[in-house]
Amino acid sequence: MTETARRIVLATHNPHKVEEFQAIVAAARPDLDVVGYDGPEPVEDGVTFAENALIKARAASAHTGLPALADDSGICVDVLGGSPGVFSAYWAGHRKDAVANLELLLDQLADVSDPHRGAQFVSTIALVVPGGAEQTVAGVWPGRLATHAAGAGGFGYDPIFVPDGQDPAAERTVAEWSAAEKNAASHRSRSFTALLPLLADL
Ligand code: IMP
Repeated sequence: MTETARRIVLATHNPHKVEEFQAIVAAARPDLDVVGYDGPEPVEDGVTFAENALIKARAASAHTGLPALADDSGICVDVLGGSPGVFSAYWAGHRKDAVANLELLLDQLADVSDPHRGAQFVSTIALVVPGGAEQTVAGVWPGRLATHAAGAGGFGYDPIFVPDGQDPAAERTVAEWSAAEKNAASHRSRSFTALLPLLADL
Protein backbone atom coordinates (compact mmCIF):
# COMPACT_ATOMS: atom_id res chain seq x y z
CA MET A 1 0.00 0.00 0.00
CA THR A 2 1.27 3.53 -0.75
CA GLU A 3 0.65 6.83 1.08
CA THR A 4 -2.00 7.67 -1.50
CA ALA A 5 -3.73 4.27 -1.39
CA ARG A 6 -7.40 4.40 -2.21
CA ARG A 7 -9.47 2.34 0.20
CA ILE A 8 -12.18 -0.11 -0.82
CA VAL A 9 -14.25 -1.95 1.75
CA LEU A 10 -15.00 -5.64 1.22
CA ALA A 11 -18.41 -6.41 2.69
CA THR A 12 -17.71 -9.76 4.28
CA HIS A 13 -17.09 -10.87 7.84
CA ASN A 14 -15.13 -13.85 6.45
CA PRO A 15 -11.39 -13.08 6.94
CA HIS A 16 -10.48 -15.77 4.37
CA LYS A 17 -12.33 -13.87 1.65
CA VAL A 18 -10.62 -10.59 2.63
CA GLU A 19 -7.18 -12.27 2.46
CA GLU A 20 -7.99 -13.99 -0.84
CA PHE A 21 -9.12 -10.76 -2.41
CA GLN A 22 -6.25 -8.68 -0.98
CA ALA A 23 -3.78 -11.10 -2.58
CA ILE A 24 -5.38 -10.78 -6.01
CA VAL A 25 -5.74 -6.99 -5.83
CA ALA A 26 -2.22 -6.45 -4.42
CA ALA A 27 -0.70 -8.08 -7.50
CA ALA A 28 -2.73 -6.05 -10.00
CA ARG A 29 -3.43 -2.77 -8.16
CA PRO A 30 -0.94 -2.07 -5.36
CA ASP A 31 -2.44 1.44 -5.04
CA LEU A 32 -5.72 0.00 -3.73
CA ASP A 33 -6.12 -0.91 -0.07
CA VAL A 34 -8.82 -3.54 0.54
CA VAL A 35 -10.20 -3.34 4.08
CA GLY A 36 -12.68 -5.59 5.89
CA TYR A 37 -16.15 -4.44 6.95
CA ASP A 38 -17.42 -4.56 10.51
CA GLY A 39 -20.67 -2.59 10.21
CA PRO A 40 -24.26 -3.82 10.40
CA GLU A 41 -25.24 -6.73 8.14
CA PRO A 42 -28.33 -6.27 5.97
CA VAL A 43 -30.95 -8.98 5.45
CA GLU A 44 -29.97 -10.91 2.30
CA ASP A 45 -33.44 -11.31 0.84
CA GLY A 46 -32.50 -11.28 -2.85
CA VAL A 47 -33.32 -14.28 -5.02
CA THR A 48 -30.19 -14.12 -7.19
CA PHE A 49 -26.49 -13.98 -6.34
CA ALA A 50 -26.31 -10.52 -7.96
CA GLU A 51 -29.19 -9.15 -5.86
CA ASN A 52 -27.65 -10.40 -2.62
CA ALA A 53 -24.17 -9.12 -3.54
CA LEU A 54 -25.67 -5.68 -4.31
CA ILE A 55 -27.61 -5.62 -1.02
CA LYS A 56 -24.37 -6.25 0.92
CA ALA A 57 -22.24 -3.82 -1.13
CA ARG A 58 -24.83 -1.02 -0.86
CA ALA A 59 -25.04 -1.43 2.92
CA ALA A 60 -21.23 -1.34 3.31
CA SER A 61 -20.86 1.67 1.02
CA ALA A 62 -23.63 3.58 2.79
CA HIS A 63 -22.13 2.79 6.22
CA THR A 64 -18.51 3.66 5.37
CA GLY A 65 -18.83 6.23 2.56
CA LEU A 66 -16.26 4.16 0.64
CA PRO A 67 -16.51 2.17 -2.60
CA ALA A 68 -17.66 -1.27 -1.52
CA LEU A 69 -17.36 -4.80 -2.85
CA ALA A 70 -19.45 -7.80 -1.82
CA ASP A 71 -19.60 -11.33 -3.10
CA ASP A 72 -22.37 -13.88 -2.96
CA SER A 73 -21.73 -17.46 -3.91
CA GLY A 74 -23.10 -20.98 -3.93
CA ILE A 75 -23.41 -24.24 -5.78
CA CYS A 76 -25.86 -24.74 -8.67
CA VAL A 77 -26.80 -28.30 -9.66
CA ASP A 78 -28.04 -28.83 -13.23
CA VAL A 79 -30.57 -31.58 -12.51
CA LEU A 80 -32.05 -29.45 -9.69
CA GLY A 81 -32.60 -26.50 -12.04
CA GLY A 82 -29.76 -24.49 -10.50
CA SER A 83 -30.56 -25.16 -6.83
CA PRO A 84 -29.36 -24.89 -4.10
CA GLY A 85 -28.12 -21.58 -5.62
CA VAL A 86 -28.75 -18.67 -3.23
CA PHE A 87 -29.98 -21.21 -0.66
CA SER A 88 -26.64 -23.07 -0.56
CA ALA A 89 -25.75 -22.06 3.00
CA TYR A 90 -29.18 -23.16 4.32
CA TRP A 91 -30.08 -26.13 2.07
CA ALA A 92 -30.74 -28.45 5.03
CA GLY A 93 -32.29 -25.72 7.21
CA HIS A 94 -31.41 -22.45 8.87
CA ARG A 95 -28.91 -23.95 11.29
CA LYS A 96 -26.34 -23.50 8.46
CA ASP A 97 -24.93 -27.02 8.90
CA ALA A 98 -22.40 -27.61 6.08
CA VAL A 99 -22.28 -31.40 6.55
CA ALA A 100 -26.09 -31.72 6.62
CA ASN A 101 -26.25 -29.53 3.49
CA LEU A 102 -23.95 -31.74 1.45
CA GLU A 103 -25.47 -34.99 2.78
CA LEU A 104 -28.93 -33.79 1.71
CA LEU A 105 -27.62 -32.95 -1.77
CA LEU A 106 -25.96 -36.38 -2.11
CA ASP A 107 -29.18 -38.06 -0.97
CA GLN A 108 -31.28 -36.07 -3.46
CA LEU A 109 -28.99 -37.19 -6.29
CA ALA A 110 -28.60 -40.79 -5.07
CA ASP A 111 -30.21 -42.25 -8.21
CA VAL A 112 -28.70 -39.78 -10.69
CA SER A 113 -25.95 -41.28 -12.87
CA ASP A 114 -22.60 -39.62 -13.48
CA PRO A 115 -23.32 -37.93 -16.85
CA HIS A 116 -26.25 -36.09 -15.26
CA ARG A 117 -24.47 -34.85 -12.12
CA GLY A 118 -23.24 -31.56 -13.64
CA ALA A 119 -22.89 -28.62 -11.22
CA GLN A 120 -21.17 -25.23 -10.95
CA PHE A 121 -19.81 -23.14 -8.17
CA VAL A 122 -20.82 -19.52 -8.86
CA SER A 123 -19.47 -16.31 -7.32
CA THR A 124 -20.98 -12.92 -8.12
CA ILE A 125 -19.25 -9.72 -6.99
CA ALA A 126 -20.97 -6.34 -6.75
CA LEU A 127 -19.12 -3.01 -6.82
CA VAL A 128 -20.96 0.01 -5.44
CA VAL A 129 -19.30 3.45 -5.62
CA PRO A 130 -20.84 6.26 -3.50
CA GLY A 131 -22.77 8.52 -5.85
CA GLY A 132 -21.67 6.35 -8.75
CA ALA A 133 -22.38 3.18 -10.64
CA GLU A 134 -23.44 -0.23 -9.39
CA GLN A 135 -21.93 -3.15 -11.28
CA THR A 136 -21.80 -6.94 -10.94
CA VAL A 137 -19.54 -9.63 -12.43
CA ALA A 138 -19.75 -13.41 -12.11
CA GLY A 139 -17.27 -16.27 -12.01
CA VAL A 140 -18.38 -19.83 -12.79
CA TRP A 141 -16.39 -23.01 -11.94
CA PRO A 142 -17.87 -25.99 -13.81
CA GLY A 143 -17.74 -29.57 -12.59
CA ARG A 144 -19.99 -32.29 -11.22
CA LEU A 145 -21.06 -33.79 -7.94
CA ALA A 146 -19.20 -36.83 -6.61
CA THR A 147 -21.25 -39.80 -5.37
CA HIS A 148 -19.69 -39.59 -1.90
CA ALA A 149 -17.76 -37.01 0.10
CA ALA A 150 -13.95 -37.12 0.00
CA GLY A 151 -11.18 -34.91 1.40
CA ALA A 152 -10.72 -32.76 4.48
CA GLY A 153 -9.71 -29.37 3.01
CA GLY A 154 -11.79 -26.33 2.10
CA PHE A 155 -15.31 -25.79 3.38
CA GLY A 156 -18.97 -26.12 2.44
CA TYR A 157 -19.58 -28.32 -0.60
CA ASP A 158 -15.86 -28.80 -1.44
CA PRO A 159 -15.87 -32.53 -0.42
CA ILE A 160 -18.49 -33.37 -3.08
CA PHE A 161 -17.44 -31.05 -5.95
CA VAL A 162 -15.24 -32.48 -8.72
CA PRO A 163 -14.04 -29.68 -11.05
CA ASP A 164 -13.89 -30.30 -14.79
CA GLY A 165 -10.57 -30.57 -16.59
CA GLN A 166 -8.85 -33.13 -14.34
CA ASP A 167 -7.06 -36.30 -15.45
CA PRO A 168 -9.98 -38.82 -15.46
CA ALA A 169 -7.73 -41.44 -13.82
CA ALA A 170 -6.91 -39.19 -10.88
CA GLU A 171 -9.93 -36.99 -10.24
CA ARG A 172 -10.19 -35.37 -6.83
CA THR A 173 -12.82 -33.33 -5.03
CA VAL A 174 -11.90 -29.72 -4.16
CA ALA A 175 -11.50 -30.82 -0.53
CA GLU A 176 -8.57 -32.95 -1.75
CA TRP A 177 -6.93 -29.95 -3.50
CA SER A 178 -4.44 -27.64 -1.80
CA ALA A 179 -5.64 -24.12 -0.92
CA ALA A 180 -3.27 -22.72 -3.57
CA GLU A 181 -4.73 -25.00 -6.27
CA LYS A 182 -8.26 -23.97 -5.30
CA ASN A 183 -7.44 -20.25 -5.14
CA ALA A 184 -5.96 -20.36 -8.65
CA ALA A 185 -9.01 -22.01 -10.23
CA SER A 186 -12.06 -21.25 -8.11
CA HIS A 187 -15.26 -19.38 -8.95
CA ARG A 188 -14.08 -16.61 -6.59
CA SER A 189 -10.74 -16.19 -8.35
CA ARG A 190 -12.63 -16.06 -11.66
CA SER A 191 -15.05 -13.37 -10.46
CA PHE A 192 -12.26 -11.38 -8.78
CA THR A 193 -10.26 -11.45 -12.01
CA ALA A 194 -13.31 -10.29 -13.99
CA LEU A 195 -13.75 -7.47 -11.50
CA LEU A 196 -10.26 -5.97 -11.87
CA PRO A 197 -11.02 -3.98 -15.06
CA LEU A 198 -13.99 -2.38 -13.27
CA LEU A 199 -11.61 -1.02 -10.64
CA ALA A 200 -9.72 0.93 -13.31
CA ASP A 201 -11.70 4.12 -12.63
CA LEU A 202 -11.04 4.14 -8.88
P1 IMP B 1 -21.52 -17.12 0.96
O1 IMP B 1 -21.36 -16.48 -0.37
O2 IMP B 1 -20.29 -16.97 1.81
O3 IMP B 1 -22.79 -16.73 1.65
O4 IMP B 1 -21.60 -18.70 0.69
C1 IMP B 1 -22.80 -19.36 0.45
C2 IMP B 1 -22.64 -20.86 0.58
O5 IMP B 1 -22.22 -21.38 -0.68
C3 IMP B 1 -21.59 -21.35 1.57
O6 IMP B 1 -22.12 -21.46 2.85
C4 IMP B 1 -21.25 -22.71 1.00
O7 IMP B 1 -22.24 -23.62 1.38
C5 IMP B 1 -21.37 -22.48 -0.50
N1 IMP B 1 -20.04 -22.12 -1.08
C6 IMP B 1 -19.67 -20.92 -1.60
N2 IMP B 1 -18.40 -20.97 -2.03
C7 IMP B 1 -17.97 -22.23 -1.74
C8 IMP B 1 -16.70 -22.87 -1.93
O8 IMP B 1 -15.71 -22.31 -2.41
N3 IMP B 1 -16.64 -24.16 -1.51
C9 IMP B 1 -17.69 -24.81 -0.97
N4 IMP B 1 -18.87 -24.26 -0.75
C10 IMP B 1 -19.02 -22.96 -1.14
